[in-house]
Amino acid sequence: MRLQVIGDPVLHSLSPRIHGAMLKELGMDILYNARVVKKGELPAYFGWASENGVTGFNATMPHKEDLLPLLDELGEDAARFGAVNTVCLREGKWIGNNTDGEGCLAALTEAGMWPAKTVVVLGAGGAAKAMALKLASAGAEQVWVCNRTLSKAERICSLPNMTAASFDVEALTKLCAEADLLVNGTSLGMEGQGQFDSLAFVDTLPAHAGVFDAIYHPDKTHLLARAEERGLKICNGLPMLIHQAIFALEYFLDRPLDHKRMSQMIKEVL
Ligand code: NAP
Repeated sequence: MRLQVIGDPVLHSLSPRIHGAMLKELGMDILYNARVVKKGELPAYFGWASENGVTGFNATMPHKEDLLPLLDELGEDAARFGAVNTVCLREGKWIGNNTDGEGCLAALTEAGMWPAKTVVVLGAGGAAKAMALKLASAGAEQVWVCNRTLSKAERICSLPNMTAASFDVEALTKLCAEADLLVNGTSLGMEGQGQFDSLAFVDTLPAHAGVFDAIYHPDKTHLLARAEERGLKICNGLPMLIHQAIFALEYFLDRPLDHKRMSQMIKEVL
């Protein structure tokens, strides 16, 4: 049995460290490494993987959507998000799953931010799409998807309790006043990326609201710092990253794992 993470770029990925630590903790002598697979090279990769004993792999950019037509079966979230991050070989069939939504939900639950009735999601890229669709299908009454490019937000609002909205500070300020949970799925606040023009919308969130940022570099974005100053519950993207990896290993090994034990151990090695 051999496991990998594929993508381009991929050599910076934390997945080999996270999965390596979990496999060691479980006492399993299984190799998990990173392999550069460029856009267009997926069909050749499947051939190589089959010949070299790969029974599962994680996928990052640019493959999450390109994998869909190449797989034999898709799990519910992968089909719903139109994106795959975890692929397992079962009885000769390649099966695709997506653990980003489950990872987000587990992180929110652990942080005491879930369940939430009214959610404002910022962004409509890969991460925001997985989080918004997962929260909308897991019990939120209303999910607002606010994106700079409104048409992208409109495209992902495929459930009746999802509504696209614009990203300007006036719109966000109004929506946040009614929100139980604010989720940042944009790259704003990430090291080397831009910052929000204004964070005034944080000031209108109710006192019970939580603020989740999918970013984990830096530890505390300006958004989270502003929410913390207000005394709101905050959580960065590290627990999501960790839980999505634990869910992926559960798919690879086809057995449940102790998320609490694993996530404590992973935090110590990262
Ligand atoms: P992506 O697909 O490129 O999407 C980026 C999003 O950010 C889009 O909605 C984009 O809006 C928005 N954006 C970028 N620059 C902006 C600006 N100047 N003003 C307003 N909006 C802007 O990226 P992604 O893969 O979804 O990743 C987004 C973030 O989530 C990254 O920081 C990544 O590190 C993090 N992430 C975390 C995890 C985790 O496990 N914690 C997992 C995946 C991703 P437009 O549509 O208008 O371009």
